Amino acid sequence: MKIMIRQIVLADDPILRRKLKPVKKFDRNLLLIVQDLIDTMIFANGAGLAANQIGIDAQIFVTGITQKPQIFVNPKIKVLGPKNSEMEEGCLSLPGYRGPVKRSQEIEVTFDDLKGKRRKKVVKGYLARVLQHEIDHLQGKTYVDHIEDKSQVHEITPIRIAFFGSGQFAVPVLVSLVGLNWTFDFQTVLAVTQSAKPTGRKGELAKTPVQLTAERFNLPLVAPEKLDDEFVKKLQDEKIDLIVLADYGKILPAKILETPQYGGLCLHPSLLPKYRGATPIQHAILNGDEKTGVTLFKMNSKIDSGEIIGQYETSLAPNETYESLEHRLSQLASLMIRDLLPYYTSEEVKLEPQDKEKVSDAPKLTPEAGEIKPYDSAEEIVRKVRALNPEPGVYTTWKNKRIKILAAHLEDNQLVLDVLQPGGSKPMLWKDFKNGYPDFALPKN
Ligand code: ZN
Repeated sequence: MKIMIRQIVLADDPILRRKLKPVKKFDRNLLLIVQDLIDTMIFANGAGLAANQIGIDAQIFVTGITQKPQIFVNPKIKVLGPKNSEMEEGCLSLPGYRGPVKRSQEIEVTFDDLKGKRRKKVVKGYLARVLQHEIDHLQGKTYVDHIEDKSQVHEITPIRIAFFGSGQFAVPVLVSLVGLNWTFDFQTVLAVTQSAKPTGRKGELAKTPVQLTAERFNLPLVAPEKLDDEFVKKLQDEKIDLIVLADYGKILPAKILETPQYGGLCLHPSLLPKYRGATPIQHAILNGDEKTGVTLFKMNSKIDSGEIIGQYETSLAPNETYESLEHRLSQLASLMIRDLLPYYTSEEVKLEPQDKEKVSDAPKLTPEAGEIKPYDSAEEIVRKVRALNPEPGVYTTWKNKRIKILAAHLEDNQLVLDVLQPGGSKPMLWKDFKNGYPDFALPKN
């Protein structure tokens, strides 16, 4: 799937002041515009987005506050009640500002769907407000035009975030945070990643996935060797209000966590207090768990033991691998941070202490954890292969040679090996491997 995030047009652009042209052709081009509008709106965490806000002169807008985005082409509205409901509004084209706008609570909207069929519905409450805001855009107006006393339009003070992350799990979370920057409630102004480590035979310095992502979005990034007083000063100079951490790889000392007024939040890929530590994803697969998830919690000086803000769950597929589960949990984490940041910084927030009775640990795995033992059942071997590849890897020793097992599955409760890799060779399918190692067998009791 291709996603196109468009640049959002800002207030001084004349296209925001133009009455837009009606859509006449319901073709592929319209679909592409709508897709870009939806992708950009979701990325920017907007409640709605009109075509001129991405520079297109056409009467189209989308809204994103219902479960599925809604699309309105050539819309007209009829106000069904007095404009007596007042609420603060903001706009992606006027970032950093808010102002009170009186709107009607109930409207009737008629519009074309993507096939050009005219539709009609009655809409109430917040969605009615969003529709009125977006219709304004199609008329070349913005919410500010409804505010007589312009001194009521005020700047908002964003919560400034430093994001700590290194690995792949952290990337969708950072992308989510960068998108939130459009709304100005939250501004991620700094990314912090692990200092580069030499890798490969030539000892090249590899950039972390978070560093590559920060570069993509021109986000300032630091990779401090030490989290010392000098680094505390850096956070103070950047006026950081909140730390968000995911897959950083280092423990934050208390003096770092105490620096921002909102402290530090961590996204941990397990349902805490289950699986505290470095390898929660691997342990969920190793133990054959039916479900796992992501926990957002407030960090304290002990690992993964802080108070919980929220948890999102997912079930494990029967053939779940480390890579598939990590990918899904990272997507879940990116949704969570968007949903729960406003909750955490609101007055309604409730922090739940972790249940000490239910704590379990998921410590770092040594390479030996991947060795096939004579007493491992077929099911345990398959779980090891799914959980411990690519790191630390699963292996057995056959005639003094290390053989890695990259893929395996169960068939009628019997172990079936799929891909193996003898030391020094390339990965091989079982049928090819068997030719070279006709008497190969796994250790048995
Ligand atoms: Zn707007």
